[in-house]
Amino acid sequence: MDLIYEKCNHRQAFSIPKGQVSSVSFPKELQRHKPAELPEVSELDVVRHFTHLSRRNMGIDTNFYPLGSCTMKYNPKIADVVSSFPGFTQLPPQLLYSEVYHDCIQGALELVYHLEQLLSEISGMHAVSLQPMAGAHGELTGVLMISAYHRKKGNTQKKIILIPDSAHGTNPASAAIAGFHVQEIPSNSQGTLDINRFREAMSDEVAGIMLTCPNTHGLFEKDIQEIADLAHRHDALLYYDGANLNAIIGQCRPGDLGFDVMHFNLHKTFATPHGMGGPGSGPVGVNECLRDFLPGPKVVKKADGTFSLECPENSIGKSAPFLGHFLVAVRAYVYILMQGNEGLKEVSRKAVLNANYVLSRLRSSFPPAYDRLCMHECVLTAMPYHDYEVRALDFAKALLDRGFHAPTVYFPLTVKEALMIEPTETETKETLDQFCDTLLELAEMAKQNPEELRKAPITTPVQRLDEVRAAKELNVVRPVNTSTA
Ligand SMILES: *Cc1c(COP(=O)(O)O)cnc(C)c1O
Repeated sequence: MDLIYEKCNHRQAFSIPKGQVSSVSFPKELQRHKPAELPEVSELDVVRHFTHLSRRNMGIDTNFYPLGSCTMKYNPKIADVVSSFPGFTQLPPQLLYSEVYHDCIQGALELVYHLEQLLSEISGMHAVSLQPMAGAHGELTGVLMISAYHRKKGNTQKKIILIPDSAHGTNPASAAIAGFHVQEIPSNSQGTLDINRFREAMSDEVAGIMLTCPNTHGLFEKDIQEIADLAHRHDALLYYDGANLNAIIGQCRPGDLGFDVMHFNLHKTFATPHGMGGPGSGPVGVNECLRDFLPGPKVVKKADGTFSLECPENSIGKSAPFLGHFLVAVRAYVYILMQGNEGLKEVSRKAVLNANYVLSRLRSSFPPAYDRLCMHECVLTAMPYHDYEVRALDFAKALLDRGFHAPTVYFPLTVKEALMIEPTETETKETLDQFCDTLLELAEMAKQNPEELRKAPITTPVQRLDEVRAAKELNVVRPVNTSTA
């Protein structure tokens, strides 16, 4: 739809409130000589335009979304309702920084304080800061704290961060941005960290180790105790990438496993819908040894029970403006209180059960990368269809035509033709069965009629894209030239 009309047609879909100021005189050179070419459309045109756009969007409210490593689950709408209360949305962030107004925002400060306590309890960490705006931002904040810790202790030789080859790409990126040298540790044949290679790599030059647990193969790092002991013997700190926290929530705690610092992805584990760039939130949690290095200011509770802000003694400074994404924090707060202890335990139980159900239904056609029970996601491979020239990407595209969002493909990098499926705890058995039935049908089609699969998707607004170009030259109006269609 072309929203710009050549000349005024007096259609409008807005009303501007009566101004408080009667008139303002602009200098002549700033005045307009021709009317501005603004869109002139009726209310119905506007409603149709945006409704149409929203229907082109595949989201968790419309389709099953098994995008592995992302935890795209249904997020209870009550969290959105509460976070849109005017008392929260109309809170000017500047108030937070003005001591004078602290009386007026005690409720908001208390919410932040209490949520940080709840996250501490859930994770076994001693203190939490809500500041970082996303998981990757939490990682950077965490490794900057590791760096500050070693600097303070005069550990000048500590320049290396060890990271397994199965890690999310943000881990090495965060460590490198914080000035560390990254050393990769390979996985073993079981899909977990190769403990022998880890032992060899461990030295007094190692500042820290970043681990995801369960890792991105969907497997629990069973040697975690030994890894933690060995790291601590060399005064290296253990970082927990919390993206997969919903696999273990309520069952075990990163703090008890020996981790010193971690991030949470509130938009993965705690009820903020995500995708398409945010908003997210990646609070950091730390053990006693890093408490003083947390980003500041932090909410503190004073002796008289009121709340104010203070900066930790050796704080690395601010990692984000104000106290982070406050409304995302509100959603997480609502979600945690709503679930309670038992509810949170149920989350991990069901997430793991659902992933194993999908694994067992699909394993005959899509072999698991590591043949064992998984945690909250399963990593399968489309290698059996290599000879028919059908790839993981073709299955992903064909699923779109059949009303499912695609699983993650080609990640983790350690698995050839990977299909990484995370069903989450919020899906019914019926939905999981429809998804598995569809993938099994597609597996048959790959052998009988591979041409058909390679044409997919045919029902979406745009067909096969040149994905590399599309990511670099974003054009939401016209599809980028297609490579196959
Ligand atoms: C999503 C994810 C991250 C990064 O988190 P963002 O919130 O997207 O920045 C890091 N590690 C893993 C394993 C992830 O799945």
